[in-house]
Amino acid sequence: MLERIRIVLIGTSHPGNIGATARAMHNMGLSDLSLVAPRCEPITADSVSRASGADHVVHDARVVDTLEEAVADCTLTVGASARSRTLPWPMLSPRELGDRLPQELAGPEARVALIFGREDSGLTNAELQRCHAHVHIPTNPDFSSLNLAAAVQVLAYECRQAWLTAEPAAADEALACEPAPDLALASHAELEHYFAHLERTLVAIGFHDPAKPRQLMARLRRFTLRARPERMELNILRGILSDTEKLAPPRERR
Ligand code: SAH
Repeated sequence: MLERIRIVLIGTSHPGNIGATARAMHNMGLSDLSLVAPRCEPITADSVSRASGADHVVHDARVVDTLEEAVADCTLTVGASARSRTLPWPMLSPRELGDRLPQELAGPEARVALIFGREDSGLTNAELQRCHAHVHIPTNPDFSSLNLAAAVQVLAYECRQAWLTAEPAAADEALACEPAPDLALASHAELEHYFAHLERTLVAIGFHDPAKPRQLMARLRRFTLRARPERMELNILRGILSDTEKLAPPRERR
């Protein structure tokens, strides 16, 4: 279970935080680290020293340019945020996140990404709207922002507690719980292709004006992500979109 939990750091600017994240992960038995457009050199004397013997996690980290690349294969994406945002999103506490993990990771292709933001500005709204849920570590409301690696530590601890509780039972139940292939949840990449197709179609039929978005796509994202669609269901929706596109008046097509 733990090997299918990915820690994703976006735009990290201090190598020490990357090293400390590696240490926090290895302490809790996590090993899959992705760095999205880091704003510093990941492997430095500082990061190696803060990793305290877990620097192999940094050496093995995948460095990519975009969040999409980092989480394309993930079936659950959770953004860690210190603040509440304008459009409320499904929220989890760290404990609730841990409680959900065994079920989320039951399928053979299931993979979970825990996404962390920049030290100075956190995650953008666009990044948070790509997540199924947000997790907030309850803190002093007057001083709510943890150090990046400290936030990773708290969530990695909950992952480990969930694994310690679930693993003996999971071993017995794994076969019984494994979903049939056509019940597999849609991955992040499949969802993003769907959202792009949906937006294109809504523009083509004149329902959506990107110049006046009124949070339409954000609301449709929240609704769709809340439903946790299976790959098969998303294929049906995409089929409907394709036929709808064909019916759009030619001058309105883009
Ligand atoms: N100054 C930023 C916070 C940066 S802290 C802001 O105001 O948004 C760096 C990252 O650590 C955050 O993007 C978030 O992913 C994580 N983090 C820090 N405190 C957190 C908290 N209380 N709950 C959840 N994640 C937190």
